[in-house]
Formats: sequence, structure tokens, C-alpha cells
Amino acid sequence: MAKLLEGKPLAEKIKEEIRKEVSTLEKKPVLASIQVGENAPAEAYVKSQRKTAENLGIEYQLHRLNQETTETELIQFVQELNSDKAVNGIIIQLPLPSQIDYKKISQFILPEKDVEGMHPANMGKITFGKAKILPCTPAAVMELLKETQVDLYGKEVVVVGHSEIVGKPLSLLLLDKFATVTVCHIGTSKAGKLEEHVRKAEVLIVAVGKAGLIKGEWIKAGAIVIDVGINRVADKIVGDVEFEAAEKRASYITPVPGGVGPLTVTMLMRNLVEAAKLQQ
Ligand code: NAD
Repeated sequence: MAKLLEGKPLAEKIKEEIRKEVSTLEKKPVLASIQVGENAPAEAYVKSQRKTAENLGIEYQLHRLNQETTETELIQFVQELNSDKAVNGIIIQLPLPSQIDYKKISQFILPEKDVEGMHPANMGKITFGKAKILPCTPAAVMELLKETQVDLYGKEVVVVGHSEIVGKPLSLLLLDKFATVTVCHIGTSKAGKLEEHVRKAEVLIVAVGKAGLIKGEWIKAGAIVIDVGINRVADKIVGDVEFEAAEKRASYITPVPGGVGPLTVTMLMRNLVEAAKLQQ
């Protein structure tokens, strides 16, 4: 039976380190958050981010812009925050109204204030193994792997999902640890090869968004399984991996909810402190 890799206790441990770092800074770090219009998911993120930030001694500034804000207006606002020396990090809440293209806007955030680690300059630094600010979800996965004490050198690691926010940057972080990385995606499934790749994984990371995509019987005995997926099925939140069957074969497995999720906001705060240090 696998050991549960829970995100919450690890998040608490990392928060303690962040608190110490914050106390060494000359001034309280400031996270500026932009919310355009009103919607339930963004409200929930803002609430949880504010709580975490304040608990760590970080100032959380919420800027609410109206639903009709244009791309030009938002870019202008981002640029004002870029030049505001009091602001250390900027985050734009999703979802955004349909007239705004997040990918376009997020590139206007200065790389040193890009606490989500999604600016092309920060993504590019991952390629060179020099990134100080990492995208939050891949960073959370790497922390969970560290917790298992697995030596990734030469390990067969399979990542299912190749999105810009999870799979792609995560594969680069894993390569940096000299893992043998296979990245699977919709093309792999369409070619009928997903099972074959998953079966050989000593470490399996799944970030797709399809409940039950990964069958428990595909899990190699003793594998480490990190399930990033979040799916709502009949009023329950589940991951992408068939948990009960996988748990019997894996050595470690993340629960969903309670695995990767609780760590991502902690990674955001760690990025903010890193950004504040870079700016000092
Ligand atoms: P995305 O939609 O951008 O990418 C999905 C990926 O899955 C793509 O690479 C696609 O090719 C692949 N895919 C789709 N169908 C597939 C199939 N049948 N077989 C194999 N691959 C397939 O998604 P994303 O933004 O990377 O998010 C993925 C999941 O992770 C979602 O459930 C999301 O909610 C969750 N997520 C969780 C956290 C967290 O904090 N826990 C953070 C980010 C994303």
C-alpha cells in the first residue's frame, strides 16, 4: 500500500521557511493582485491568496478593475504596477472577461515581478537551469518529489500532459535532475500508446483533467504517482488516476484533493519572496 504524499504538511514546512525569509527582508514584500470583473473562482483564489500572504507577513493588494476593462487599459495598469517600486510581484486572476487575452497581457508583467513564473523570460531560464522564479504547479510537484527522497538521476519519469503551465516546464525541471523523461499527451493516447508508456514509469506525473484516464493496473509496482488533475465527478473532486487501484501498487501517491493543490499558493508566495530579494 502506497504512502500518502500530502501537500498540506509540506506546505506548512515551506511556509515556515518563507516566514523566516520574510523576516530578513528590509521591508514587507508586496503582492499586487489584479481582478477584472467579478466571478466566483477568482473570488475564491483571491481569498485564499490573501489569507496565505497575510499569514506569512506579506502585504496583499487587491486591485479590482471593471468587467469592461480593455486590453489596452489592463496593459497600462500592469505597467503602472511594473514601475511602482513598492510592488514586488504581480498576479492576474483568472478567468478574465472574453475581450482579454491572458497570454498577451501576462507578457507585459516585468519578468522580475512575474510571480507566476509564466513570462517567456522566466520560462526560458528553466532551459538553462537558472530559473529563480518557477511556475507554481511544476515547482509544487518538484517539492513533493523531494519529499519522497527519490534520486531522479536516470529514473524513468513519465509526464502525462504537455501544457505550458504544467507539463512542459515540469519536463525541463526533471531533465535538469537527469531523469529520463517521456512526455505523453493527446497524441500519445490517439496513437494507442499511453498505457505502454505509463507502465514503464518509475515516477508518474499526470496533469490532464480527465477522471480515471490512468488505470490503476497500469501503475508499475513501487512507482511514485503525482496526480495534478482536478475533476469534479458527482459532487466529488477526483484526480486523473484511478486512486484506489493505483494506491495498491504505488510506493507513494498524492491524494486529490490535498496533494499538489495546497502547495501551489505556497509556491506563489515563495516566488514573491524570491522576487523581492532579486529587487533589493
Ligand atoms: P490543459 O488542458 O492545458 O492540458 C491538458 C494536457 O492533457 C494536454 O497536454 C493534452 O494534450 C493532454 N491530454 C488531453 N487529453 C488526453 C488524453 N486522453 N490522453 C493523454 N493526454 C491528454 O490542462 P492544464 O492546465 O495543464 O491542467 C491539467 C489538469 O491539472 C487539470 O485538471 C487542471 O485542473 C489541473 N491543475 C491542477 C493544479 C493544482 O494546483 N493542483 C494546477 C494546474 C492545473
